[in-house]
Amino acid sequence: VSDSLNLFAVLADIVGPAHVHRDAGDMAPFLTDWRGRYRGQALCVVRPGSTEEVAAIVAACNAADVAMVPQGGNTGLVGGATPCSPSRHARGEIVVCLTRMNRIRAIDLDNNTITVEAGCILQSVQEAAAAAGRLFPLSLAAEGSATIGGNLSTNAGGVQVLRYGNMRELTLGLEVVMADGRVWDGLRGLRKDNTGYDLKHLLIGAEGTLGLITAAVLKLFPLPRDKATAWVAVSSPAAAVELLGRLRDTCGERVSAFEIIGQSALGLVLRHIPQTRAPLAAVHPWQVLLELTDMDAAGNLNGRLEQLLVREMGGGCLLDGVVAKSESQAQAVWNLRENISEAQRIEGISIKHDISLPISRIAEFIARADLLLEKQMPGLRIVCFGHIGDGNLHYNLSKALPQDNDEFIAGQPAVNRMVHDLVHALGGSISAEHGLGQLKRDEIRRYKSQVELDLMRSIKSALDPRGLMNPGKML
Ligand SMILES: Cc1cc2nc3c(=O)[nH]c(=O)nc-3n(C[C@H](O)[C@H](O)[C@H](O)COP(=O)(O)OP(=O)(O)OC[C@H]3O[C@@H](n4cnc5c(N)ncnc54)[C@H](O)[C@@H]3O)c2cc1C
Repeated sequence: VSDSLNLFAVLADIVGPAHVHRDAGDMAPFLTDWRGRYRGQALCVVRPGSTEEVAAIVAACNAADVAMVPQGGNTGLVGGATPCSPSRHARGEIVVCLTRMNRIRAIDLDNNTITVEAGCILQSVQEAAAAAGRLFPLSLAAEGSATIGGNLSTNAGGVQVLRYGNMRELTLGLEVVMADGRVWDGLRGLRKDNTGYDLKHLLIGAEGTLGLITAAVLKLFPLPRDKATAWVAVSSPAAAVELLGRLRDTCGERVSAFEIIGQSALGLVLRHIPQTRAPLAAVHPWQVLLELTDMDAAGNLNGRLEQLLVREMGGGCLLDGVVAKSESQAQAVWNLRENISEAQRIEGISIKHDISLPISRIAEFIARADLLLEKQMPGLRIVCFGHIGDGNLHYNLSKALPQDNDEFIAGQPAVNRMVHDLVHALGGSISAEHGLGQLKRDEIRRYKSQVELDLMRSIKSALDPRGLMNPGKML
């Protein structure tokens, strides 16, 4: 107890007493995840305001032998930002929440870069870039709460990976407080730098297990001047993949988003999210939300997309479709896509699979997985949607109606095994963009080779030999 009191006093000294939470009520929002699937325990929550303060916190935790759980917007979907319960570290854990570190440090228009602190909300970075006449393209439904530190640590993807890549590809430099409290200033805005191991790539996607990211240099792009958005019904997932191929043949890199949405996913949004309506009159099993963007404002992208879709209508893949005539119509269809997770949360408990596959195997995966699951859990509702252009599906399950929550969750290990084994057999990954966290920490051992697991453990023990960074996550 006296050790803990000593640590609290040291932390309060570093960040100010107002930024150390010890009261159960104050700590509660930091100790559970967005889905409400994990509830953790922590000695306290500390909210630093600068890199120096983060470094001092890490030094204090080293001295007290207490572990740290980095947290940003707490929108992660695998329990990575929630402390484990019981604690995975003998002397306990504290949550280090970075949201007070929310400054835009610099924008360099000639270099097309923005330097931001880790606690910046993604949407505020997009807005700062737009105000400077540039695009920061990472975009995901949680962008109003998710932070850059969380985006980096999960190597976030979202809806524009097809054109711009995921967070790894959007990052040029990092500033990190390492597990021993030293600050690594790697805030370089270089597109070429072959001077040894690329350390930033170890930290990106590390889910807070190697260090605390405090700032980053991110790439900026020209702002698109023209945009065309369409919502189309397709005859099958295979038809969606075919359509994507032809769209890329004719429009190349202008294809910036290509999202598949199964009817059950759309149905949940229409049921639970106010002021939503189906864009097409008939009910179709599969729809695609697609977007083209261009730098040339005179390119008449809407007209070109309309022509292209009309040509497709005769081919059997495309069943129906609408091209948005205004920004508000485009927003309305994006609203449908972006509210799927929220609608599924309102619907009740779910089992989620964030998986990726070679695009060529997606249709086969869906057909085989649907069959297996219908046999295993009759009545189960498959809520399938995702970034099909990146080979990334959210193959989620809602319980049968009616079914007991406990009975549904009891079936989770068997269902996961079935889905993940099939993903693995088809050359895919059991985590496309959400990470491993607590959710897939044990499961991943089945799918990675011993060599790969050994390499990961060597990296962990080299950079965090005392196991103080986010214990019980990923490894
Ligand atoms: C409705 C909804 C839609 C979503 N859609 C997408 C999507 O399309 N694509 C996608 O990729 N994700 C998506 N997500 C998941 C989530 O938004 C992302 O993983 C996001 O990047 C997490 O950011 P965060 O700030 O909330 O991180 P948190 O949840 O706070 O943390 C996530 C992980 O990062 C670590 N971490 C956080 N900050 C730091 C730091 N500064 N240094 C070191 N480690 C840190 C945490 O320990 C944890 O392991 C969605 C989530 C929701 C709720």
